[in-house]
Parts: sequence; C-alpha cells; structure tokens
Amino acid sequence: MRTNDAERRRQEIAEAEYNGVCVIYAPNKLYENAYKYYNIPQLGAKMDGSYTKVYKFDKHEDLTDIEKRFLGLMGKVEKRYGLDENLFSIADIGYDFVAHDGVVLKHSEHQTAGVYDSVDNKIYLDSFNLHLDGMQDKSDFYIVMSTAYTVCHELAHCLLGTNDMTKTHDNAMKQIMDTYANCFE
Ligand SMILES: [Zn+2]
Repeated sequence: MRTNDAERRRQEIAEAEYNGVCVIYAPNKLYENAYKYYNIPQLGAKMDGSYTKVYKFDKHEDLTDIEKRFLGLMGKVEKRYGLDENLFSIADIGYDFVAHDGVVLKHSEHQTAGVYDSVDNKIYLDSFNLHLDGMQDKSDFYIVMSTAYTVCHELAHCLLGTNDMTKTHDNAMKQIMDTYANCFE
C-alpha cells in the first residue's frame, strides 16, 4: 500500500470505529472471501452508502433546576460568540444505523456526548453524558469545567464548520478553548 492509501485507510477505520462500527480485519484472502460471502460491508468504496447514521433527539422540555442553571451558563457562551439564543439544548440522544434497504442495523442511546445539527443550527448535549444530576451542589466553575470539552467540541463544528477526526477540528477546538473562559468573566 502506498503511504497515501495507508493513511486514507487508517482514517476510514478511525471514522468507522468512531461511528460505533465494529471493524474486523481479514488476515488473508480466505477470510476476505468469507466476509464477502456473509455480506459484511468492506471499508472504502463499498462502505459508502451501505448505511446511514440517523440521529434522534428527544429534547428535554421540562427542565430540572440544574439543567436550567447549566443552560443559563450556556446563554453566556451564546452571547459571547454571537450565536443564536437557545442554540444549546439538553436531550436524550440516540441513533440508528440504517442500511440502504431501510433495515435498522443497530440502535444506540446515550453513546454520543453531543451533536451539532447544522441544518437547524442547534447543539444537542446528551443528558446522560453531561452528568448534571450530581452537580446540584457544585459551583458554576465546576459545572463549566466539567462540560467544557464536550461544549467546545460542538462549538468547533458550529463556529468553524470542522469535521470530526481531522487535524483542523483539533486546531479549532484548541482555538475555542483558549477563549472559552472569557464567556464567564
Ligand atoms: Zn463531533
């Protein structure tokens, strides 16, 4: 494999695993043929379009006190970066992997910490992964610090339009984290 091919393949594997796909390796031609026989999708061209990931957001409407407090803090972030009011929502995030024939291959709940929905310009943060329930007695500082990684990750998608698993996304996140504290002056 040429270096470029190897790099591209590594990226494909990282993306597939990030998406919750179990990647299995064929040690030789015999295995490869067996996997093909059982219709196991291959990475690369054949993988494209073999499934789609469909997110479901069950937005929390009846907010608890700690959820209201957290979203109040996120209001400062929205203001500081000049974003839409109520950009942030707390939700139960789930997703389906749907095959091209409509069959749901896999369903997961609470496996994603956050999602930026670029169509509706909304950031959904998963209720379970935020761990707000244990923070009732904590300071704002604690709440902001505990959730900063997820929030800044989604802000990078939203503010700079970057994609997961890329160097530009890492850089965008770093850039945002450098200025994030200013939201809470
Ligand atoms: Zn992301």
